Amino acid sequence: MGSVGAKEVPVLLSPEGIRVDGRRLDELRPLRVVAGPLHRADGSAFVEWGANKVMAAVYGPREVHPRHLQQNNKAIVQCKYNMAAFSVDERKRPGLDRRSQEISKVIAEAFESVIFAEEYPRTSIDVYIEVLQANAGTRCAGLVAASVALADAGIPMADLVPAVAVGKVAGEIVLDLNKAEDNFGEADLPMALVPQSGRLVLLQMEGHMTREELSRALDMGVKGCHVIYDKMKAALRDRYSAARPTEVAA
Ligand code: ADP
Repeated sequence: MGSVGAKEVPVLLSPEGIRVDGRRLDELRPLRVVAGPLHRADGSAFVEWGANKVMAAVYGPREVHPRHLQQNNKAIVQCKYNMAAFSVDERKRPGLDRRSQEISKVIAEAFESVIFAEEYPRTSIDVYIEVLQANAGTRCAGLVAASVALADAGIPMADLVPAVAVGKVAGEIVLDLNKAEDNFGEADLPMALVPQSGRLVLLQMEGHMTREELSRALDMGVKGCHVIYDKMKAALRDRYSAARPTEVAA
């Protein structure tokens, strides 16, 4: 342990290049994607990604609320990202805060660019993301879950939208930051990719890195997104090839 001011800073990288949780620099946390676990929603997905647990539910296309948001030529995409009070170490104050509003907005915008919204004028496609347990990277986990939930709801889209955060930790570019790396690393850069077109539909950065590092980080993130993409597609295949999960819809 080193220390900066009052904060204890853990050793984030071993001399052999192994991270606090035993991963290599370009290794993702274990990721499990389940399509269609909820029966009341039009589409749903559950994502367990490292210590993150995120549920997404999709409703629509349906009537727009509030009505004045309705658009005559296309569907609108509305997103609500919420962190449960019990999702973090110290109880989070429930309800809408600025961070949740910002994340909801950037996720809705990412989906607006892939959903064929013109097919459903005057309707709303509503995406709910509930973070049940958080350990950094929840906006990316939320995007992955919501993307699979949208596909599960049968919403026509150009592609799924895998997402991952890349960053800089102890001077090295790393894939998929965990909480310690997010807290004590030098940079955190969540990104979302449309694999078939190669377009990035979300890119944010906190911290600092050089242009050369940024370029390597983007390459690493794109590779990571392709691995995540395959898991998302596999979850949808499982959903429609196997019988529904054991619970019976009431
Ligand atoms: P992301 O979850 O997309 O990485 P942030 O970088 O804002 O978003 O947050 C990093 C992590 O910090 C979250 O995943 C969560 O573990 C933690 N965190 C965020 N907001 C809070 C909060 N209000 N209270 C406690 N922990 C939080």
